[in-house]
Amino acid sequence: MHEMGIASSVLDAVRVEAGRYPGSHPSRVGVRVGEWSGVDRESLQFCFEALVTGTDLAGLLLSIDYRERRNRCGRCSEEFAVRNYETRCPQCGSDFTTAIGGTELDIAFVELEE
Ligand SMILES: [Zn+2]
Repeated sequence: MHEMGIASSVLDAVRVEAGRYPGSHPSRVGVRVGEWSGVDRESLQFCFEALVTGTDLAGLLLSIDYRERRNRCGRCSEEFAVRNYETRCPQCGSDFTTAIGGTELDIAFVELEE
């Protein structure tokens, strides 16, 4: 389950961020998870909670910003959500489309309290 490693990396980043502001306490961390990032949201939430319980970060909340897969058409520039692996442009029918979102896996924000 690689979500455990991801949750661990997120917590490392939170500790680094909190360390820059002595006396602060992290209350929430936001993570962007793309539909095609290969990350299971429920597993990530579960691993995150398992890792913070009983530690100095207990009570820290995880906000997952889920990003659906989106493509842009190379012919008509239409941007659309990809459903059922259908990457053809719904506007003009072109097969020439490229991914513009949905593979994100990064930290969006860390909220700190005094
Ligand atoms: Zn098109």
